[in-house]
Amino acid sequence: MEKNTEATLSGALRKQKYHFVGSHSAVKRCKWLYESIVNDRPCYKQKFYGIKSHRCIQMSPSLYYCTQQCLFCWRAQSGDMQVTWDEMKIPKVDDPEEIVEGCFKAQQRILTGYKGNPKTNWHKFQEASMPKQVAISLTGEPTLYEPLGELIKTFHQRGLTTFLVSNGTLPAKLSKLSQEPTQLYISMCAPNEEVYKRVCRPEFPGAWTKLNETLELLQSFRCPTVLRMTLVKEHNMDNVEEYARLIEKANPTYIEAKAYMHIGFSNLRLSFDCMPMHHEVRAFAEKLAEKTGYKILNEAPESRVVLLSRLEKTIKVGTN
Ligand code: SF4
Ligand code: SF4
Repeated sequence: MEKNTEATLSGALRKQKYHFVGSHSAVKRCKWLYESIVNDRPCYKQKFYGIKSHRCIQMSPSLYYCTQQCLFCWRAQSGDMQVTWDEMKIPKVDDPEEIVEGCFKAQQRILTGYKGNPKTNWHKFQEASMPKQVAISLTGEPTLYEPLGELIKTFHQRGLTTFLVSNGTLPAKLSKLSQEPTQLYISMCAPNEEVYKRVCRPEFPGAWTKLNETLELLQSFRCPTVLRMTLVKEHNMDNVEEYARLIEKANPTYIEAKAYMHIGFSNLRLSFDCMPMHHEVRAFAEKLAEKTGYKILNEAPESRVVLLSRLEKTIKVGTN
């Protein structure tokens, strides 16, 4: 990546409170870290799966790099802000140990901001300085980072649980992960190839076939799996039967149907009206439940997300 391109991008991301780690990773304070420590309002993943929002690091090992250019994405994409770069390749690969260490330091820097807040819950603040969970999800496609399995393993060795979010376009990388995450998310945001090309805008030919290979691969994972559907009004909320067929193919442990949020760089591509309301997400989930036999297990209206599963209750992963 050219130096002036990097300067433009990093300047914009600093304003959005990204903390850079090495040459291609970053940590960002999740809104729910703040909400949990200051207002005792945890994220929906605490409600669903038991992880603790105040002990969670939100990071990416592939800050500027992805195989898709989804309309709804909050990351800076090549072409935004009049700068372009090769998004498909991380030029220099940082060591997993250094990334993990850098993430811990970045999280500590983020937490220092709470010291002066009179509403800070001090018990939670102290616990927060010892993270127990990492969401490898912030932005970009993490399977582009070659030693991803090693990165997951290093987080596990430091006592953290890991939620990995992938767009599923690189099944060969996922199938060869040397360490499975605690929970694996695959984004499935289109019911067919036509919608996929329009909404997820893959950066290489045959990506839809690759995503379908990943769906078939999902049952080979031992960890719980999630199909994450980001729902964008007027773009990908029809064709429920086609979605149901993809779900049948993947047989995930969970489905999370979640509203698109009008934040970050997605503001350049979609209007505010593209965000469905919670009742619209719920109506979509009910149709999905009818077609798939999955049941609605939980929901979080404040995040406009509905959880479906064949299980009677979720597998809790947070123990502390
Ligand atoms: S699991 Fe996700 S939403 Fe919850 S605190 Fe971590 S990064 Fe934030
Ligand atoms: S796959 Fe994820 S990171 Fe990549 S463009 Fe889509 S939303 Fe953004």
